Amino acid sequence: MNLARPFPLRDVSLNPGVQSRAQRQMLHLARVYPVDRLLAVFRANAGLDTKGAEPPGNWEDFGHPDEQPWSGADYPGAGAAPTASLLRGHYAGHFLSMLAMAHASTGDPLLKHRSDELVAGLAEVQRALAATGRFSHPGFLAAYGEWQFDRLEHLAPYGEIWAPWYTCHKIMAGLLDAHTHTGSQQALDVVTAMGHWASARMRKVDRKQVQRMWSLYIAGEYGGMNESLVRLFRVTGEKSFLETSFVFEMDDWLRDAVAGRDVLDGMHANQHLPMLAGHLEQYEVTGEQRYLDAVLHLWHQIVPGRTFAHGGTGEGELWGPPGAVAGFIGRRNAETCATYNLLKIARGLFTHTLDVRFADYAERAGLNHVVGSRADVLSDTGPEVVYMYPVDPGAVREYGNVGTCCGGTGLESQVKHQESVFFEVPGAEHAELYLLQYVPSTLTWAEAAGTVTVDTRYPREGTVRLLLDVTGSYTLHLRIPPWARGRQRVSVNGQALPAVDLDGFVTLRRTFTPGDVVQLVLPLPLRLVPTPDDPSLVSLEQGPTVLLARDDSTTTLNVSAAGSRLLDGSIDASSLDPGSLDPGSIEASGVVGGDLVHVLGHTFEPAWSGGEHRYHLYLRLSEHRIVFRGSDPGVANRHDQDGWSFLGALWAGGGFATVEDFFTAVHRHALRAARAGLLSRSEVIAVLHAAAASTLDEPDGPRESAVHPGPGSVSVGQGRVVWHLPDDAGQEHPAPVIRFDVTGERAPSGWYTTPPSFTVTVVSPGPGVTAVEYETGDHVWHPLPATGGVPLTTDGRHPLRARAVDVTGRTVHAAHEVAVDTEPPAPGIRVRPLGDDSVEITLDATDDVSGVDRVQWRTAETFWGVYQEPFTRALRDEPQTLEYTATDRAGNVTPVRTVTLPPTAGRSKPSATW
Ligand SMILES: [Zn+2]
Repeated sequence: MNLARPFPLRDVSLNPGVQSRAQRQMLHLARVYPVDRLLAVFRANAGLDTKGAEPPGNWEDFGHPDEQPWSGADYPGAGAAPTASLLRGHYAGHFLSMLAMAHASTGDPLLKHRSDELVAGLAEVQRALAATGRFSHPGFLAAYGEWQFDRLEHLAPYGEIWAPWYTCHKIMAGLLDAHTHTGSQQALDVVTAMGHWASARMRKVDRKQVQRMWSLYIAGEYGGMNESLVRLFRVTGEKSFLETSFVFEMDDWLRDAVAGRDVLDGMHANQHLPMLAGHLEQYEVTGEQRYLDAVLHLWHQIVPGRTFAHGGTGEGELWGPPGAVAGFIGRRNAETCATYNLLKIARGLFTHTLDVRFADYAERAGLNHVVGSRADVLSDTGPEVVYMYPVDPGAVREYGNVGTCCGGTGLESQVKHQESVFFEVPGAEHAELYLLQYVPSTLTWAEAAGTVTVDTRYPREGTVRLLLDVTGSYTLHLRIPPWARGRQRVSVNGQALPAVDLDGFVTLRRTFTPGDVVQLVLPLPLRLVPTPDDPSLVSLEQGPTVLLARDDSTTTLNVSAAGSRLLDGSIDASSLDPGSLDPGSIEASGVVGGDLVHVLGHTFEPAWSGGEHRYHLYLRLSEHRIVFRGSDPGVANRHDQDGWSFLGALWAGGGFATVEDFFTAVHRHALRAARAGLLSRSEVIAVLHAAAASTLDEPDGPRESAVHPGPGSVSVGQGRVVWHLPDDAGQEHPAPVIRFDVTGERAPSGWYTTPPSFTVTVVSPGPGVTAVEYETGDHVWHPLPATGGVPLTTDGRHPLRARAVDVTGRTVHAAHEVAVDTEPPAPGIRVRPLGDDSVEITLDATDDVSGVDRVQWRTAETFWGVYQEPFTRALRDEPQTLEYTATDRAGNVTPVRTVTLPPTAGRSKPSATW
C-alpha cells in the first residue's frame, strides 16, 4: 500500500550543516541528563527509592506531598484529594524516544546504554505497581495511580485530571521506540503489558461513553494512543491491540473529516493532530480508505490555509477559521508540538501519495520552525526549545520548556533531522530512490550495497552534490522546491542533463558506478511571499529559509520593496550586503555573518538561527511611490477605498515570466488606476516610460519607449516598447496625495505611550480639494478640524483612514496604523503552600492592548528573574519579601509590588500588598 517508504534512522547519518547544530546540542543533553531524574516521579509513585533524584520540574514534577497512588476505588474524590503535576511521566516517555532515536541516528553505545537504563527502571516500576495489587491489571504503568483513568471514565474535567491517556501514549511510544531503535526486548515486554492493561480497561467502556470522554477539553486528550497500539500490533501480531486502537477515535470528527467538512475553527490543534498519525497507521494495516481520506482532507484544511510561513499552525493552541493566516496572528501562534505532528503526518502522507507538497511542507517546517525552535546553546538540564514560535510583530523566542509538551516533542525533533531525507520504493523492478530534503547526510543503502551522500551547504548555498558509491541501474527522483521549479540545473559527472521536472521531481534513470557525482544547482531567490488572506502582508524568504527581520519594535514593520523587485518578483540580490555572502562555516553555531541578509532597510536572520533577537516574521508592504528597479517616475502610488493601488495590483501575482507579461500588466493596471482617478494622464505616461526604462529584467541596453494615443495595449520589439493610450485614460491634473503625521511620545517599541494626535495633510492638491475626511476604525467619516490635530484618546491599534475629494470628483484614500498603549500591565501573584516548607508561586499579568512582555521578580539577594511557569520557593526561618513587576510590549512598566512569604514555622497565609 506504501508507494514509498523512508529508511530507518540507523541507515541515515546526519552530516555537518544547519540541522546538525541543533542535533549536536540536543545530543549533549541526551548524554548527560541523569536517568534517575526521569525515573523519580515513577519511583515515588511505586514506593521505590528515588535515589535522591529531583524530577525534571515544571509539568514533570512530584505530585502533591499528600497525594497517593490511588486506584479508582480508593480515590477520595475531587477536593478531598490533594494533587499536582498530573501530567507527570510524559516527559520521560519523550526522553526515552529521544535516547532511542539518538542511538539509531549516531550509533553511540552510550545512548543505548542510557535507553536500557531508563527501560529497566520503568520495568521495575511496573513490577512494583503490580505487586501492590491495587490496580486493574499488572501491566499498568504510570507516575500516578490508576484513578485518573477511572475519573475520566466518569467524565471528570481538566483540573481534576490532566490527559492521562496522552501521558500513557508518550510512555508507550518511548518504549516502542526503544524496541524499534535499540532492539530492547525488555521495552517490548513492558509496553506489551501496558497494551494488555489498556485493552482490558477500555474493553469495559461502551463506545458512547468513550466518545463523551474524548470530547472533554484536555482531560480527554489521548495523544496518539491509536498510533502506539497499531505499532504494538505490528510488532506483536496481537489482534486485540489493533481492536483497542479503534477505541481511540473521535467518531463525529472522523466522519466530518471523511466528508471533507471543515470543523476545525476553535479546535485544539495538538489534541487532534496526533490522532491523524494514528489514522495513517490504521490505514496501513486495515486498508480502510476512510482513514486516508480523513487525513488528506484535514491536511488540506490546515496547509496552507491555516499555516504560517515557518510551518506552524494555531493561536493559543487552537485553530482559527479556514484561510485565516494574516487575520489570525496573535501573541501565541504556532505551538511547536503541532508542527512536530504535522511533520509526522506529512511523512506518512508522502509514502501513500508521492505528492511533492508534503515534502515541500516538511522542508519549510522542519528547517524553519523545528531547527529554529532550538536555542543555540548547550544545556545539561533542559531541552532549550520553544513552546510557541510566535509570528506577531516584535516577538521573541522563549526557550526552555523542561517538562512541558513542547519540551518533550522538542527532545525528539532535534535528533531525527535526517528521517525524511531519503525514501525508497518497495517492490520496484530497479531500485528507486527519492531524495526529498537536501539535508547533509549519508544513506547506507542496503539494496544497492552502497552509500549515497548529500554533500551540500544548502540552505546557505544552492548547490547539492550527490556522491554515489553504488553499482547498478537505479532511478533517482530529486525534489525540486517550488520556488526553483523550471530553473534547476542537473549534471552527472560534469555532463549537463536536460532536467525537466515533473510533479516536482527531476528523475534520473541510469547505471551508476562508484564515484559518480550527480550535481543539482538550485537558485535561492529572495522572495516576498504573501499570506493567503492579505497580499500586502508578506514573509521574506531566501530559498527554503524564512527570514526574520531583527527589530526591537512591536508594531508592524512597513517596507517598500517595489524598487528592488526583479522581473520574477524576487528581491534584487545585488542589494545584499556583500559581507552577507561570506561562506561561513558549514555547521555554524549561531548565525554567522554570512547568514545575515541586509535588505529593504533591515537586517534579517534565518528562522533556523536559534537566536534571541526580537524579530518580525511578517512585513507590511507599504509603497508610497511608484518605482521600478532602476527607474523612478516620481509618481505617488495612490489607493482607492478598497486599498487597491497600482503597485499592489502589479505585484499581487508574485512576478512575471517574461518582460512582455510585465509590460502588459503595467499597461492594464495603469489604465485602471487612471480611470479610477488615481493617476493623471501625464502620470500614466511617466509610469509607462519608467516601466520601459526599468532594469528589472537586466536588459542588454536601454529600451526606447513611445506612447501612441488610441486604443490597444502594448507592443514590444527590438529594444522598443510602444504603448497605446486611449483618450479616456486619466485627467489632465494629478489627483490629491494624502499624508498622515502623528505627534506624541513614540516608544522604541513603535507604540505611543501617551495619547498622541494626528493630522492629515493633502500635499499635492492638484486642481483643488473640496473635502478631506478621516475615520479611526469605526467607519464613521469626520471632517478634518480647521486647526490642530485629532487626538487619539483610547488605547489600541487604530487603523486610521483618510480620503480627499478634488473639484473633479476624484477620491483618493490613505491608511495609517497608530498603536497606542498608555497603561502598564496588571500583574498578579498566587502563592500556594506545598507541604510544610515550600510554596508554589505563580506570577502572571494581563495587558489587553500591546500584550505582556515579561513578568519579573526578585528577592533581596537575587537578581530579577523572569518566570513563565509556576516555580517553587523554599520557606525560611525568617519571612521573605518578594518584589515583582511587569512590562508590556509597548514598554510600560508596572510600579514594583511586594509579597511577603511567611516563615517555615507558624505558617500563616502569605500576605501581599496589592
Ligand atoms: Zn506542545
